[in-house]
Amino acid sequence: MNDDALRLFFALRCPPRLAEAITTWRDDLQLQGRPVATANLHLTLVFLGQQPLTQLPTLLSLAASVQVPAFDLHLDHLGRFNSGLLYLAPNQPPEALQDLAQGLRDTLLDTGINLDDRPFRAHLSLLRRCPRLPADATPSFDWPVSHFALFASEQSAHGSHYRQLQQWPLRPKESP
Ligand code: ATP
Ligand code: MG
Repeated sequence: MNDDALRLFFALRCPPRLAEAITTWRDDLQLQGRPVATANLHLTLVFLGQQPLTQLPTLLSLAASVQVPAFDLHLDHLGRFNSGLLYLAPNQPPEALQDLAQGLRDTLLDTGINLDDRPFRAHLSLLRRCPRLPADATPSFDWPVSHFALFASEQSAHGSHYRQLQQWPLRPKESP
């Protein structure tokens, strides 16, 4: 491990009560695989990877400049990537979610930070190495999103732990 660097990502942390409801629902599906811990449920906006500690002040100030209204996320799609990762996602991602991820990404790129060019795919990881997608699952979870945050991904004896470094409020919601 490099003491002068952190493995960073911007994400939405799933609120604790919603995370409990989601993992209870997931566990009731009784699928094989390695469950993601309730406390770790999140939706990644931009993954930065290893970044020097000296970069942190810049990252904090540029995140503060991103102005996006709060939004509601309706998680109503259960999917599985070829890697075996089972995830929840919105069937119709709100525009503000896309704007938030893209806004952060553009600001980081403008600052000269290298990012991989995988397109943004909003998802909330539930279960790794899951052999199949259940046919009859109909998830429906509502998540009012009011903040985003910067996390450091750290390894512990119990697996990955995401340490929140700072969070920022979204703008008050726009009326429909
Ligand atoms: P683990 O790797 O221990 O199984 P993890 O994948 O959740 O756990 P990290 O690899 O540190 O932990 O990743 C943190 C977050 O960033 C996760 O949401 C992960 O999906 C995402 N992520 C990791 N690598 C990339 C990448 N190259 N591009 C986009 N997102 C990534
Ligand atoms: Mg990983």
